[in-house]
Amino acid sequence: MKFIDSHFHTQFTLQKGVNVFSFLDESPSNGFQGGIDIGCTHDDMPQRAQLLEPYPQILLSAAMGPWEAGASEAKGADPDFEYSEFKSTEQILKELEVLKGNFEKYRPAFIGEIGLDYYWDYGTREKQKLIFETQMKWANEKGLCVLIHDRDADEDVMDTIRRLGPDKGGVIHCFDGNEDLMKTALEHDYYISFAGNLTFRKNTELRERILQVPRDRLLLETDSPYLTPVPLRGRTNSPEYIIHTYNCAAEILGMDVNELGEIVTENFSSLCAR
Ligand SMILES: [Zn+2]
Repeated sequence: MKFIDSHFHTQFTLQKGVNVFSFLDESPSNGFQGGIDIGCTHDDMPQRAQLLEPYPQILLSAAMGPWEAGASEAKGADPDFEYSEFKSTEQILKELEVLKGNFEKYRPAFIGEIGLDYYWDYGTREKQKLIFETQMKWANEKGLCVLIHDRDADEDVMDTIRRLGPDKGGVIHCFDGNEDLMKTALEHDYYISFAGNLTFRKNTELRERILQVPRDRLLLETDSPYLTPVPLRGRTNSPEYIIHTYNCAAEILGMDVNELGEIVTENFSSLCAR
């Protein structure tokens, strides 16, 4: 069976003690056709580029995610949380410049993950929007697709997509939004990517949502090391576990898993060719 993983974090997965390389080394003879290693911070590109250099089937994205707005100014800093430092707008603008330099030097294939996260409420909404919209504008300037992270921010993400596109569209990663977001994204040439939370039995809404995605806009992902699919809950997620999400999606869609693998792989190739 042919398959891809549209969204994963190699570095974080390695940090959790999973040797992703043993799986990547067997690709593509194990069926795995490739995917995207996702950037999260303004300065993570050099190390990731080095790490994945031996794997041309893995494309790289780079971005400042909403967490780069710093600790939540409404909730206060939690010293145990990964993002425990407040950031000034000045610092954010400096970091955007560092990221811009990395784009010029490393030429990543996508801008992502970018977006809004009102669940963790990083920084302020204004700071999150500054980071998000700056990179949406870059996507138009550079002619790149974006990979969007949206948590509890459907309305503002939709508003941004309507205003800023970008022209080449992109992917709504780990889709967990409402029907309006899905419609808006599809109208603006986005793919909809589902992660391991699709396999959670009580997630009936998401299972209904995947039925509404046109077959030529469907992608699947692990978001490794997070969101491990059923029946492997409790383990650290890794791209090789995506097979469980393919099985689950094929069952919901009432189709053969090999056929689904072909479709998603083809969709991924079309995204990469944009
Ligand atoms: Zn991610």
